[in-house]
Amino acid sequence: TNPVFTGVETTIFERMSRLAKDHDAVNLGQGFPDVDGPADLVEAAAQALRTGQNQYPPMLGLPELRKAVADTNKRFYDLDVDWQREVMVTSGATEALADSILALIEPGDEVILIEPLYDCYLPMVQRAGGVVVSVRLTPPNWKLDVAALARAFTENTKAVLINNPMNPCAKVFSDGELSEIARLCVENDCYAICDEVYEHLVFEGHQHRPLMSYEGMRDRCVRIGSAGKTFSFTGWKVGYITASANLLEPIAKAHQFVTFTTPPNLQQAVATGLAKDDAYYAGLAQDLQKKRDRIAGDLASLGFRVLPCDGTYFVTVDASPLGLEGSDQDICLRMVQEAGVAAVPVSAFYVAEAPTNCIRFCFCKQDAVLTEAIARLSAWL
Ligand code: PMP
Ligand code: GLN
Repeated sequence: TNPVFTGVETTIFERMSRLAKDHDAVNLGQGFPDVDGPADLVEAAAQALRTGQNQYPPMLGLPELRKAVADTNKRFYDLDVDWQREVMVTSGATEALADSILALIEPGDEVILIEPLYDCYLPMVQRAGGVVVSVRLTPPNWKLDVAALARAFTENTKAVLINNPMNPCAKVFSDGELSEIARLCVENDCYAICDEVYEHLVFEGHQHRPLMSYEGMRDRCVRIGSAGKTFSFTGWKVGYITASANLLEPIAKAHQFVTFTTPPNLQQAVATGLAKDDAYYAGLAQDLQKKRDRIAGDLASLGFRVLPCDGTYFVTVDASPLGLEGSDQDICLRMVQEAGVAAVPVSAFYVAEAPTNCIRFCFCKQDAVLTEAIARLSAWL
């Protein structure tokens, strides 16, 4: 017999980044900023290394960081969190997701996923023996069909996994949608695993509200954040979970056998970062919003139909008005090979029967890089 993951493709992000390198392309595929985050955090991390923070930190994470996570929950969302019993540090949001799924999902449990979905959800749930029930959002508006969501629940539903703000479609769920999701979770007595890594990357006219802050949800939600996004250090892989003690306890049992800990110097630096003033957080979103406006305008003038973008690092476009041949996958392949611009086909984020005309561009890049990408696309089209 073959190992379980035989035949599973390498992720679309890794594949596109590799193709970008091979073709010397501007990489607007994989989501990572091309400038470093705050220099004082780098200094704090380096200082911690020099002063001997080099051995295993406590399994749940450094107290400084767990306190800082609890503080930001209060500061931004008025959530009262006990840092000792309700916060755990993980090696990126990815580990937080894996721990949560390992701890909460048993073979045969149904897990509701909302498509387009972030790539690791499906294999993780399936590997845990969970049965995936998907509810799809479709372009151009990515509106949640509440009736379809309601139909997805059965007596076997164990959890809903929701990504808000949402990658790849840059949707921020509305208050009305979140209220309905919360109501359904309560009614069906299930958990919600909330991937909120883009919580601070939300643009004007939108507001992030954790599902955990809705009625009846405080003790049902596993809320996941990532320093990668909040401080533009995606390679650091520092994530954190906020969850009621009875949920965190089994998740911590999974964590102890997955990574056990996360590098202490990085935890120390992130603790410093979370305490940054409001201007830092506002500036992060404002800078990105400017880049969004710019690339959205440029892509529209090239003829793409630009879809709404409420937050995250990404904007999606409908390529159909350009009349290019083939699917989004074909177009992205030709784009990286012929135009020298890498992007990501949105169909890669669906389990099956995907829309095949949408492309995701990552815009957390320096202005000159965005300019170069647009010039190349313009010459190619
Ligand atoms: N969830 C989503 C929706 C993401 O886009 C990412 C991106 N990297 C992650 C989780 C993983 O975060 P981390 O790098 O902290 O593991
Ligand atoms: N989250 C990033 C994206 O959506 C990729 C992270 C990864 O490559 N695993 O592009």
